[in-house]
Amino acid sequence: MSVVIVPQLSDNFAYLVVDQAARRCVAVDCAEADKVLGAAAERGLKLAAALCTHWHGDHVGGNQALAQAVPGIEIYGGHAENGRIPALTHPVGDGDTIRLDSLEARVIAVPGHTRGHVAYYLAALGAVFTGDTLFAGGCGRLFEGDAATMLASLKRLAALPEATRVFCGHEYTVNNLKFALTLEPDNAALNARYARAVTARAEGRWTVPSTIAEEKATNPFLRADSAELRAALKARAPALGEDPVSVFALARALKDRF
Ligand SMILES: [Zn+2]
Repeated sequence: MSVVIVPQLSDNFAYLVVDQAARRCVAVDCAEADKVLGAAAERGLKLAAALCTHWHGDHVGGNQALAQAVPGIEIYGGHAENGRIPALTHPVGDGDTIRLDSLEARVIAVPGHTRGHVAYYLAALGAVFTGDTLFAGGCGRLFEGDAATMLASLKRLAALPEATRVFCGHEYTVNNLKFALTLEPDNAALNARYARAVTARAEGRWTVPSTIAEEKATNPFLRADSAELRAALKARAPALGEDPVSVFALARALKDRF
C-alpha cells in the first residue's frame, strides 16, 4: 500500500491510500471530487471508500459528488459529528476498525477542533491521517472543544509509534514552525525542521508526511512538558500555571493571534 497526495482548494490535502494489487483505493478528506476521481482514474484505480476526519466543507465538500460518481461507495466519518458529514454511509466511533480489502484502519476519536473529529491509524502502512487535529508543526483551532479536550486528543496521537507518518489536512507547516520558533528559539531540531520546510516549499514540494517523532521534538502543542517552552510562556504570562493544560491553552491562544 502507498499514499498519494491530492492537493485540494488553496492549501488542503486529500489522500488516496492505494492497494495496487487490488487496483483499488480509499480517499481521505475529499473537498474536490473531480481531482480525487481524476487521481484515481489516472492510476487505473477504483475508488472503494472515503474516510472523513471531520465535517468542515474543505474536508467533505466532495462527498456528494463522489457518491453520485461512484455508486456503492462507502463513506466513513465520526458519528459524533451528528449528521453534518454529507453522504455519510458508515458512522464510526473510537476504537472501531474499518476493513476494506487489505486496508485496516483504526478509528481514534480526537475531539477539540470539532466535536466528532476522528483520526485514522493504519498500522500496516505506519500512517495516521489527522485532519485538522494534529498539523505538521501545529494543531487545529478549538472550535468545538476546550484546551483540555484538544490536549487529550493530541496525546492520543503522540502515543502512536514514533515512526508513524503523519498525514494532516493542510499545508500550514512553514507558518506553524515560524510560530513554534517564537516559543523555542533554541530548539535545534525545530530550527533544522524550519529550514527544511522553507526549502521544500521553495522547491514546490509538500512538507507532509512528517512523523510522530518529529512532531514530539518540534511541535509546541505536543511539548507542554518542555522546560524551554514553559519558560518562554511564563515570561509572557507570569501567572501561568505549571499544568500542561494551561501551557497548551496559552500556546494555542498565542497562535490564534500570530
Ligand atoms: Zn477543519
